[in-house]
Parts: sequence; structure tokens; C-alpha cells
Amino acid sequence: MNSVIVVGSFNVDHVWRCAELPAVGATIAGQYSTGPGGKGFNQAVAAARAGARTAFVCALGDDAGGALARQLAQGDGIDLRAEPSEQPTGTAGIYVDARGRNSIVIGAGANGTLGTTAVTADSSLLAGARILLAQLESPVETIEAALALARDAGLVTLLNPAPANAASSISLLRLADLLTPNETEFAALLARHVGERIEAEAVATLDGASLHALCRLLLPHGSVVVTLGSVGVFVSHADDQTRGDPQPYYRIGAETVATADTTGAGDAFNGALAASLARLPDSPFATHVRYANRFAALSTEQAGAAEAMPWHAGVLDRFGP
Ligand code: ADP
Repeated sequence: MNSVIVVGSFNVDHVWRCAELPAVGATIAGQYSTGPGGKGFNQAVAAARAGARTAFVCALGDDAGGALARQLAQGDGIDLRAEPSEQPTGTAGIYVDARGRNSIVIGAGANGTLGTTAVTADSSLLAGARILLAQLESPVETIEAALALARDAGLVTLLNPAPANAASSISLLRLADLLTPNETEFAALLARHVGERIEAEAVATLDGASLHALCRLLLPHGSVVVTLGSVGVFVSHADDQTRGDPQPYYRIGAETVATADTTGAGDAFNGALAASLARLPDSPFATHVRYANRFAALSTEQAGAAEAMPWHAGVLDRFGP
């Protein structure tokens, strides 16, 4: 029985490291690498390595990328529920310059065709699970339907509203018990849904009471966890649902680690948060946030996204229980 169901995207990332980003009409040399990506897949790998029996619902093309997804999911013990798509498997073309700046093109491909068939086809999928985790790299109506099905089945719904430019509606947000934006996504959601304009860079500098008030406007009945990169995390609960925490809002500072690459830190955080919630459903929420904060910090010590995810045992080794 799976305890975490991740619904989302799988991409094959194609990365070129070059001295400068290519200008219009230019042909330049770059150092190529490739690997798996997609927020859905990264988060599924994080949840599985954090110790949760994890199912990953996605759409894959009938091609080498789809075969790669199957092989990698198997390697991490993930129960892959892939909808076949006539589109090619999702891709990302990424140029990174010597200063670490990037330009990215996403070919959604199969990710853009994901429906709910894989969620509804097997009634036992949701029945035995505790958490449904989704992001916004898939059709928004599919994510909304998946969250609604999960809520009806009694699961805790966790929405990572990423990327920041993804379409989202209030009805979608209200289906989330837990919402986990980073600073950029939080600022985008506030502008879109609350009419508050705040610079992403200013979010971490706000005092707790002000941040809490903004979170309450965004998701009155759910909990909001704003990830603040190297600063850590801010948590805001509804007053009548503090999930076992003594206070309705608080910060947890980031762990000090030897950070090499923060790509996928948010994905690490979300997968680990889902896994911890599934493993210890009766523990105070802060326990899960602390675990996810540790897991995500460790993920920044390795390069890459999915391949950089640590394992549960490694988190315990480094930080203790
Ligand atoms: P995203 O990858 O979505 O931009 P963040 O940058 O907010 O997300 O990072 C997510 C989480 O990863 C943070 O809340 C923190 O727990 C952890 N993290 C990120 N960067 C660091 C860092 N430099 N040192 C320690 N932990 C980090």
C-alpha cells in the first residue's frame, strides 16, 4: 500500500554549460549533460528516499524518455502509474552560463496531456494512502480533480504551487490542506489572489505577524509553509487547526550544510514533508517541517535534482533523530 501519492511531471533535462548564454542567431559551444527532472518526479524520488511507499502518477510518451522514467522509478522503488501519451515525454532544454544564470525551454509534451485516468482507474490507489502531493507543471484541471478526489478519500492534500508563473485559481488553492510556495511563488499568489504586491526578495524580511496575516488571506482554512531558501521556512496555520503545534505561526532556520547546488531544494522539501506526514501522522506539524528542512538542506550538498536527493538514513546520520 502506498502512503504518498505524487501527481505531476517527468522531464528529461538537457543541460548545456556555456561561457555565455547564446545570443539570437549565435552558435556556441557548451558542455552537455542530461538527467531526469520534472517537479513531480523529483518530489516522488524525495518522498521515496525519505522512506514513504510512494506512487507517482504522470504521463509518458512511448519513447526513450518514457523508458528512462520507468527505469529510474524502479530503481527508487516508486510505484509508477503512467498514463500513455501520444506526445513525446516532457523535456527541458537548459543553458547555464559561467555565472550560473540560465535560460530554460520546457517542452511539456506528455505532461500537458495528463488526465485523472491513472488516479481513478485503481480504486485502491487513494484508499490506502495518507498524502496526495501535487505541483503545477500538469494541466490545472487535472491537479484540481486529483486534489478533490484525494480530499473526498480522506487524504491530506499538499499543493506545491510551482512554478510561479503557472495558472492557479482560488478553487484550486482551497482544495489544499497544505500549501508550500517558495518566496517567488508566494509573492505571485498574493498578487494574483489577494491583490497584495510584495517583492519576492522582501518576503523573508517581513515580521512573523505580517507574514502570518498574508498567509491567512491566501489560504484561510489551511496551513501555508513558505520556503525561504537559505533562511529556512515560515509556517502559518489557521487558528482552529494548528496541526499539533502550540503556536499558529513560527519560523525554522535553515540547517548549516556545505551547499553546492540548490537545484531541487524545494522538491526535496516537499517530498520529505509528505513522507514525514505519512510516517508520523500524529506528530506535531513542526516535527515534519524540521525533517523536511534537514532533508532539503542535505540535498543541496549534491549537484542535480532527483539524483541529489538524500536518503532517510543519511538525514538521521547527519542530524540525529
Ligand atoms: P525552491 O527550490 O523551490 O526555490 P527554496 O530555495 O525555498 O525552494 O528551498 C527549499 C528549502 O530547501 C528551504 O526552505 C530550506 O529548507 C532548504 N534550503 C534551500 N537552500 C538552502 C541552503 N543554502 N542551506 C540550507 N538549506 C537550504
